Amino acid sequence: MPPSSERSTGRPARVTAAERHSPKPVGCSGAQTPALWRSLTWHSAFSAGDRHKRTLPRYYSVSFWHEERAQAGMGGYQGGFGPPGATQPLYGHYGGQAQPFNAPPTAGMMNGMHPAPASAQYGQIAQQNGAHPHRFAAPPASAAGYGQPPQSSYNNMAPQPPPATQQITNQMNALSMGNYAPGPQSPVNTGGQQHLQRPAPVMGQPQMHPQSPPMSPQMTAPPMASTPMSPPPMAGAPPMGGPSMDAPHMAGPPMGAPSMAGPPMGGPPMAGPPMGAPSMGAPSMGAPPMGASTMGGMAGPFPGSAPGVGGFQQAGLGPQGYPQQPGQFGGHMAGPQPGMPGMPGGFPSGPSQLAGPPQKKLDPDSIPSPTQVIEEDQQRQVGKLYVTDVRGQVPPLVTTQFTVQDQGNASPRFMRCTTYCLPTTADLAKQSQVPLATIIKPLARLPANEAPLHVVNHGETGPVRCNRCKAYICPYMQFTEGGRRFQCGFCNCINEVPMFYFQHLDHMGRRVDFNQRPELCLGSYEFEVTLDYCKNNKPPNPPAFIFMIDVSYNNIKSGLVQLICNELKTLLENLPKEDGSESSVIKVGFVTYNKILHFYNVKSALAQPQMMVVSDTAEMFVPLLDGFLVNYQESKAVIYNLLDQIPDMFANSNESETVFAPVIQAGVEALKAAECSGKLFIFQSAMPTAEAPGKLKNRDDKKLINTDKEKTLFQPQKAVYEQLAKDCVATGCSVDLFLFPSQYVDLATMASIPSHTGGSVYKYINFQVETDGEHFLRDLRKDVQKPIGFDAVMRVRTSTGFRATDFFGAVHMNNTTDVEMASVDCDKAVTVEFKHDDSLGEDAGALIQCALLYTTLSGQRRLRIHNLSLRCSSQLQDMFKSCETDSLVNFFAKSAYRAVLKQPVKSVREILVNQTAHMLACYRKNCASASVASQLILPDTMKVFPVYMNSLMKSAPLVASTELPTDDRAQQRLSVVAMGVEETQLLLYPRLVPLHNVDLGSEALPAPVRCSEERLSDCGLFLLENGHSMFLWLGQGCPAELIQGLFNLPSLAHLQPNTSELPALDNPLSKKIRSIIDNLLEKRPNSMKLQIVRQKDKPEILFRQFLVEDKALYSGASYMDFLCFVHREIRQLLS
Ligand SMILES: [Zn+2]
Repeated sequence: MPPSSERSTGRPARVTAAERHSPKPVGCSGAQTPALWRSLTWHSAFSAGDRHKRTLPRYYSVSFWHEERAQAGMGGYQGGFGPPGATQPLYGHYGGQAQPFNAPPTAGMMNGMHPAPASAQYGQIAQQNGAHPHRFAAPPASAAGYGQPPQSSYNNMAPQPPPATQQITNQMNALSMGNYAPGPQSPVNTGGQQHLQRPAPVMGQPQMHPQSPPMSPQMTAPPMASTPMSPPPMAGAPPMGGPSMDAPHMAGPPMGAPSMAGPPMGGPPMAGPPMGAPSMGAPSMGAPPMGASTMGGMAGPFPGSAPGVGGFQQAGLGPQGYPQQPGQFGGHMAGPQPGMPGMPGGFPSGPSQLAGPPQKKLDPDSIPSPTQVIEEDQQRQVGKLYVTDVRGQVPPLVTTQFTVQDQGNASPRFMRCTTYCLPTTADLAKQSQVPLATIIKPLARLPANEAPLHVVNHGETGPVRCNRCKAYICPYMQFTEGGRRFQCGFCNCINEVPMFYFQHLDHMGRRVDFNQRPELCLGSYEFEVTLDYCKNNKPPNPPAFIFMIDVSYNNIKSGLVQLICNELKTLLENLPKEDGSESSVIKVGFVTYNKILHFYNVKSALAQPQMMVVSDTAEMFVPLLDGFLVNYQESKAVIYNLLDQIPDMFANSNESETVFAPVIQAGVEALKAAECSGKLFIFQSAMPTAEAPGKLKNRDDKKLINTDKEKTLFQPQKAVYEQLAKDCVATGCSVDLFLFPSQYVDLATMASIPSHTGGSVYKYINFQVETDGEHFLRDLRKDVQKPIGFDAVMRVRTSTGFRATDFFGAVHMNNTTDVEMASVDCDKAVTVEFKHDDSLGEDAGALIQCALLYTTLSGQRRLRIHNLSLRCSSQLQDMFKSCETDSLVNFFAKSAYRAVLKQPVKSVREILVNQTAHMLACYRKNCASASVASQLILPDTMKVFPVYMNSLMKSAPLVASTELPTDDRAQQRLSVVAMGVEETQLLLYPRLVPLHNVDLGSEALPAPVRCSEERLSDCGLFLLENGHSMFLWLGQGCPAELIQGLFNLPSLAHLQPNTSELPALDNPLSKKIRSIIDNLLEKRPNSMKLQIVRQKDKPEILFRQFLVEDKALYSGASYMDFLCFVHREIRQLLS
């Protein structure tokens, strides 16, 4: 790491010196509880559950009734079975050490770009304190606790002493040899009939018999039978008096083949063991036949779905890699078995696989359902107000609609936590392996029925704050001595109350003006600030938007330039403005470019715009200052004139090469000259290949996939981009990149600047105005009009005992505490991880204060404060009760996507599985009843955690498949880093909504169903969306009336392929469905291109990638299989 602070030269402090360098109190004992909190009772969100503790545990439990069998080569986790030594050394890089904050950059980027992160220090601290330094570390760390062997649990391919149950296993192996293929599934009866469903004779052996129709699928023999089967853990104790609980020993470790560097998650690693949930009223869990589950309708080609896989795919991409088995795997398979079943992708690669006897499928309704969890949470909130007056209160799910009333803690729209009850010590935190983090979306939009934030002005001395730790006045400050002093809730320092701020206390010790001051009674509010908080101690100028249009041949030819110029005329009328102000004060400027840059003077006094050309792109400068950035309303006539002329001026251009870095440099120089912050909107057609700084070449190399060098595909190249990103942040210049490529563009490098400047990246591959124009324009409009702040720096303070150690977002960090964002819009979130540096007190709780200093759209400098108080407990059970799955998944997605910059994706996936198993094993060991040893017991708050983790592992950046475009993987990786909890939840678990029975009279969206092929019906019409892609799926048996009503066509057969729009027909069905789609498009941060697919048409493969509960297309287990596998891991950890 290079030394830090290069940037500081010439860059005036934006924050007072005290703000940046305030000493962080360390080691103080627990802070005092502010009076406000003392008087409150702590609520447990689970009190109801507690009441029924005896009979109805708060956890979700599932038992495995049958042998859990993993199939070799099934891909699931084969990576993990490799020699431990291979990946172990890397573990430390992943999560263990704090990383430089802007981790994403490449190796090259790292140099010089990131100051020596304090990471080192924190890393040490973390190590010392043991706050899960091995978050992603291999099991060893916690293994001891569980009595597990040091290696990854994946290593269990290694021969181990046969357990008591080995005999059964062996029998099974013998029986099921070679019977990999799941047969056609015939679902066993489901729901509610768990008892019938466990056909199982006691002990389960019978079921395990491959020939036993009902379960045989699961039992398919592990291909690698010969390889050492991991000994079935077999927790014998049949809880329910029953035989039922047979040993879930998934004998065959999934893909044993260590050699498969390959795509890990391939098939359903574990032949799904049927799982039943006896006790807890939980429905029984049926395990799906291997893979079979996913292939219901579609004969198998695309078994599953890779959630993220297609996440960002542009329509129009051909179906990639049709079910072919990726060739690369073949070689790697230490191939014991011929005819290995679909390993990586779990593709049934040969007919043999399908040849099995007819098998029955186990009940998927029996495993925890995300849609049910979402629905139940929504029901709980109906008619309720979410009042934030309770410390450590767990908010409704991010998917739930609710109204917030701020009474002292920030709304969950601004801050969400992985858990609302922190373990009191680092040891406990480490033991639980639960990451402690908050996801902050500082400028999140609020619904119309919630009040906007109050703005407070403390006059010429600026906001009142603690002298020592610099925390801002907030509900956690306790006033004493008749109101003359206050004790800081963060560092306990006693401060004098400034004269102007003095107020008497009432009999409860509360200031008399408590209710009149937002900063004393609310969780979120804003301060107007003094010049001390401004760059150069000068009030900021209003920000500027610069539109930079690539006018090279491709963009002209596609009609894009014309489209943009037309759109800008209306778009500029709607530039964002402060609430309540008449018009926008944002300045605008225009640049066109190919190999050279053209600047335009659009001063209002001119009759015609003037062009100035800069052809020396090596030394970029801005040729005009006066007249380049103007007020749109004043210069409207000249700008119109310019926008009319641009398409014609370049109509005959044959220039196909472009520059890129100089374009950004020009924008930075222009903003510097104008002394303002702002945003560049760049519309680029291709990779910059013209001779100039930042010239790129095609370095896409599929041969790197699945090697240790795969990470280089994600790392940006060229130091020039690294320097440029620093310049951008120092200037407050954010970059939004709209790409219109026809091939690889090295997105990892081109998008590195947006991803460090709070910007966004949009990609429209093979752009055509007719089919993609509207989609692009929706993105552009949303992007231009969204609420945004500029030149921002965020600081997160905590009460004593813990501190923020790592940050994930589209941010830049020059030191360990200041999160810098050239811009931050309403959709950008920063995930902040905490570690203990001392113990926490149960009485004092834990406080977090996020302060965002930024420039508003009207050029005002503001400070936005969000406060959140959490509980602390020495009981792990309390922590698990307060966990939030969606936030956990957000954290894991970001940390995993950062980790792929440093280590093989295979290792990252292993770590994710280990982490999942460790967290759940810790719960099982410490918090769940001991009498049900063979059950899979999940905390109520995390019962659908596994489905999200599995989906994450199947997402494009973590799937090493040559079929996935490198740019798509890089794009998803970078977008997720800036996502809030709502976006990651939706991305990893898309909404699948049945529309064929839609109630035309109801406003409500029909209830979504689970993302699995089995939820589809031949006669159905389904809408699927994940925030980035949207599909309308039409079953082959769709009624003719429905087709007529939607498309005005006599039958489905008449529908043109690649249709991406619903005609505007004047009938209730058409109107209803179009309005549902429009509402969704309106609601999401990004536009989505509607892709209409017919069942069994080739493009359907794109759609199926999003059915995340099914086995994945390229590699990745089904939800059921993953759950079984995790269960087995847990049992091993506990044994
Ligand atoms: Zn303080």
